[in-house]
Amino acid sequence: MDDTPKESCGVFGLYAPGSPVSHMVYLGLFALQHRGQEAAGIAVCDGDKIWVDKDTGLVSTIFNDRRLHTLQGDIAIGHTRYSTTGSGDWSNCQPVYRDAGQHQFALAHNGNLVNTAALAADLGLDYDGLGSDSSVAAELLARQLTTTRPATGSSALVEAFISVLPQMSGAYSFVLLGSGCLVGVRDPHGVRPLFLGKLDNGWVLASETPALDVVGATVVREIEPGEMVVITDSGVESRSPFPAEAINPKLCSFEFVYFARPDGNLMGHNVHRVRQRMGEALARQSPVAADAVVPIPESSVPGAQGYAHESGIPYVDGFVKNRYIGRTFIAPTQELRRNAVKIKLNPIKENITGKRLVVVEDSIIRATTLIETMRMLRDAGAAEIHLRVLSPPYRWPCWYGMDTTDRSRLVAAHNTVEQIRQMLGADSLAYLEIEPMLEAISPTGTKKLCTACLTGDYPIPVPRNDIGDKIPAADQSVVASR
Ligand code: SF4
Repeated sequence: MDDTPKESCGVFGLYAPGSPVSHMVYLGLFALQHRGQEAAGIAVCDGDKIWVDKDTGLVSTIFNDRRLHTLQGDIAIGHTRYSTTGSGDWSNCQPVYRDAGQHQFALAHNGNLVNTAALAADLGLDYDGLGSDSSVAAELLARQLTTTRPATGSSALVEAFISVLPQMSGAYSFVLLGSGCLVGVRDPHGVRPLFLGKLDNGWVLASETPALDVVGATVVREIEPGEMVVITDSGVESRSPFPAEAINPKLCSFEFVYFARPDGNLMGHNVHRVRQRMGEALARQSPVAADAVVPIPESSVPGAQGYAHESGIPYVDGFVKNRYIGRTFIAPTQELRRNAVKIKLNPIKENITGKRLVVVEDSIIRATTLIETMRMLRDAGAAEIHLRVLSPPYRWPCWYGMDTTDRSRLVAAHNTVEQIRQMLGADSLAYLEIEPMLEAISPTGTKKLCTACLTGDYPIPVPRNDIGDKIPAADQSVVASR
């Protein structure tokens, strides 16, 4: 039903003695809800013990004032989850808690490890019975603590974490909670974002800058790829768990295309403005005569604004999106499912009937919902539909924290652009080419972005047998028309 890409998670951490930390984490998780709607959790340290409360569902349905009041302490972390490894049931909710002898900790993870099976085998764990890659990461740290039996104290926990991190391959932004310390770390490629913010009486870590805004923190900076920050009563210490040659920044370009909130900044660039620039570039690359530019809400709105601005074609709203609907809804028959799409997105016929439309979409992953959306536009009387996509064809699976590891479900992996155009019933279809997309994101940072799902160039080795062959150059056109 819902074929938009799903992010694997959002993480949040807070070191703020004297503040209502659980309530503040709750606000931060609200701001990160878009990164995962399957589950959420909060862990708080009261200086002695760590208390964890987590469940499946939305942040607003899990937590209430009473539950938050039971989570008292000075340091806390939180997590919103969408499962890209492991099932979406309670056992895989995060933060993951471990009691490792003299050390207790809680861990929250955004991203995906790519060597989970090998790590599990090394630990003697049953890979198939594993909860998730995050559970394996926590187990790795717990084993390190129980086997080496370091002294108590936050520095011992930090040193143990540093010693196990190089064993993990893949994408991760972790926040770790221990007695007296909050730790944040990004993998050496920095595939997933993580920011440091400052409060009057403490510090905040968050996947995106809007989550810092909602707790009144000022943005200090992004945690660097391969950097660890350790926050204690002494302040913030920056550590380097990885050798310099391992550092190779590759932030996920889909953070800009779809995942990240438009009011946030990444790599110093406002996400809303980046999406507008993508639309402007698409208008220059693939112009067409039309009466109106229509976004498919909501992440495509800035891109449609950019296309309209660059082309001079008026921007109009073509749909109303129901903001109160969850990620999925129940519809047992094909006919009901088709109609149910309208619960989520309903066309404004007055803006569509008889018009030649440029319809802007951020990406096409599986195309199932988009087929229904295009049909809605035809049914509403659109004279022509010219579909413009703000990113190149999504042809390869993502192993770094997006739910697209099954290549057979990626429509552009098995169809030419002309075939996709026919499938969608569009008069023309054009995707933004890779170079203009990267230029729109960051003219000076194009080499610092992961594009594996668009190019097949994986910055972190993945099981290539699961990826498939590259598309022949002759089939790599990004434009098709009737
Ligand atoms: S493969 Fe695509 S979705 Fe996955 S991290 Fe890279 S750019 Fe992002």
